[in-house]
Amino acid sequence: MHILVTNDDGIHAPGLRVLVGELTRLGRVTVVAPDRERSGAGHAITVQNPLRVTPVEWEGGVVAHAVDGTPADCIKLGLDALVEGECDAVVSGINRGPNLGTDVIYSGTVSGAREGYLHGLPAIAASLDSLTNREEAYLPAARLTRLLLAELLGSGPRPVPLLNVNIPAGEIRGVRITRLGVRKYRNVFHRREDPRGRVYYWLAGEAVDLDQGPDTDARALREGYASVTPLRLDLTDAEVASRLRVWETRSWNEALSDGVPEAGRPGGAAGRGAGERDPA
Ligand code: MN
Repeated sequence: MHILVTNDDGIHAPGLRVLVGELTRLGRVTVVAPDRERSGAGHAITVQNPLRVTPVEWEGGVVAHAVDGTPADCIKLGLDALVEGECDAVVSGINRGPNLGTDVIYSGTVSGAREGYLHGLPAIAASLDSLTNREEAYLPAARLTRLLLAELLGSGPRPVPLLNVNIPAGEIRGVRITRLGVRKYRNVFHRREDPRGRVYYWLAGEAVDLDQGPDTDARALREGYASVTPLRLDLTDAEVASRLRVWETRSWNEALSDGVPEAGRPGGAAGRGAGERDPA
């Protein structure tokens, strides 16, 4: 058993250290993690710059590499270049703070796991509902992650799943299988001036869970349960696709020939707006 582990809080984060300690009970562990915090990196990958890899000392025979890239970079590089032989699973976490609902779009933690899933491996993203840096606080979450991974690797579902797991910071009352809720952020940007009088903006604000329906991740966590949300990659909206299918029967060639969409031509529905955009 060989498990590849990353996170987005950086290779020295307490949640990663505790998680790796637990996962070594299942088998061999290799760590490839960002050399600094990359929370909010989403599924970004580095293509304009080289990736530098630095070996990091780790206890218990764990091989660890720090990479000056994103969590997705780390898993890509790990699976395609750094790790000799096969990996059986990818685990990302334990994140400092939850990843609920629409957070999964921005989350480096989830993206690290998702990259493993893209490589065809079972993958878990695990997050703790706390911003603490105390290592002990991550232990129950790390244990649960280890148990869930053991389930996946045993008689777990096939094809292999991608699981987004959020774990309460206090007592874990149990596990709920959930769907993503809807989360938005309020008061998003702080506008300030630097010492030289230049304006800058800093993303801040608090999360607001708009959908906390009984089967959502946010509700499970709020009620003291570990939330397990199976994710998929196919974002296709089949309902909208079927409504738009009429576009396939339309003749586009005439409109395309003069480079102006039919709706944007003079006399067309949006003629004036299109004319304003055209400097000619
Ligand atoms: Mn993070």
